[in-house]
Amino acid sequence: MNLNKARFEISAASARDFPNVPWPEVAFVGRSNVGKSSFLNTITGQKKLAKISSTPGRTRTINFFNVEDKAHLVDLPGYGYAKVPKAMKEQWARLIESYLQTREQLKAAILLVDIRHPPTKDDVLMANWFQHSRAQPIVVATKADKLSRGQIPRHLAQVKKTLQLDCPYIVFFARDGEGKAEAVRMITEMLQGSGAAQ
Ligand code: GDP
Repeated sequence: MNLNKARFEISAASARDFPNVPWPEVAFVGRSNVGKSSFLNTITGQKKLAKISSTPGRTRTINFFNVEDKAHLVDLPGYGYAKVPKAMKEQWARLIESYLQTREQLKAAILLVDIRHPPTKDDVLMANWFQHSRAQPIVVATKADKLSRGQIPRHLAQVKKTLQLDCPYIVFFARDGEGKAEAVRMITEMLQGSGAAQ
């Protein structure tokens, strides 16, 4: 499976709009501005697949990207943006939670966190939802290029200690693509492994 073949398919505002096919899915979630769009663009080798947001917090929908009519990459709305009204935050939270906990096609869920700062309360809430999902969790720690090499292990340890997720952790640098090969390999394996088992 070639992630470079990913194409936008549909923006879903509710579960009714989710594609009704059994293809395996990998979903991506994180605080808005964490670097989720940059990560999606990097792993698919495309400049504009996911929009890099100039106005964070605006994307309310779940975006499905079709990979060769065999799998979906699923971009969940970013959370934690302070200026979004509370009712809307609750609506997104319900949409994300129900997706993570009920979507049968979901094989792996990728939580993106900013390696520079301890994970937020919302990141920890998301990690807890991951525990209740059938999907394999994977954590991607973004913006590692903004730290010195020497600082990375201490920051990564803080991320692991706060999230309490026993899963693979990938340190990612959008600028030079470090961490890309590992992420692509893991995501492809999740999508193909599950495909072969069915
Ligand atoms: P999203 O809201 O999570 O989709 O975040 P974006 O991908 O739009 O990124 C938010 C901002 O962070 C943009 O200005 C990006 O250029 C920047 N950014 C994203 N990833 C990285 C990274 O790994 N390193 C650095 N230095 N900047 C990044």
